[in-house]
Amino acid sequence: MRQYFFDVWRGVITVLIGMRETWNHLFRPPTTLQYPHVRFNLPAGTRQQLFMNFDDCIGCYKCARICPVNCIYIDTVKAKPTEDLGKASTGNPIRQHLVRFDIDMFKCCYCDDCTTVCPTECLYMTDKFEASVYERSNGIYHFSKYEPALAMKMLAEQAAEEAAAAVAKAAKAAAAPKKEPAAAPAHH
Ligand code: SF4
Ligand code: SF4
Repeated sequence: MRQYFFDVWRGVITVLIGMRETWNHLFRPPTTLQYPHVRFNLPAGTRQQLFMNFDDCIGCYKCARICPVNCIYIDTVKAKPTEDLGKASTGNPIRQHLVRFDIDMFKCCYCDDCTTVCPTECLYMTDKFEASVYERSNGIYHFSKYEPALAMKMLAEQAAEEAAAAVAKAAKAAAAPKKEPAAAPAHH
């Protein structure tokens, strides 16, 4: 009987000791947020989802070349001499159609290298971190304003023009008169 009351007493004491922490926390400000209704303000310079401002991109490929995991995919079509594609807001002339600018955010390692080399600062990290998707393909962000079908057509035309130019160059080189090799000096 004595042991029984002792065990009950010990149980009560144990609960009270545990409740002490609970009582202490009841009167402290909470350290958690009611996410997603409330969000933390992320610090400046935070690296989350990338964004590319299409109107300022000059298609220089610097970002794609420096990317350590090759997750930036760019295709450009040179503007015709008669076309004026304008300038980026930094004043850099735009000389090519940016028919494709994709970033695979699933491959990205958030190193930030691409944004540091961008001459027009049109590529930058945002503070958007909620990017869950159901399909893997939805993790590839498309920034070009060209419709894929039009982009394919323009790329095909550019490839055909380049092939024709290469053929014409080869034909011209073949038709050019061959230079006679210089006579070797006579030895006495
Ligand atoms: S942050 Fe790094 S890994 Fe991601 S796209 Fe830019 S260069 Fe590539
Ligand atoms: S470095 Fe900047 S301007 Fe050059 S292709 Fe990349 S995003 Fe465009």
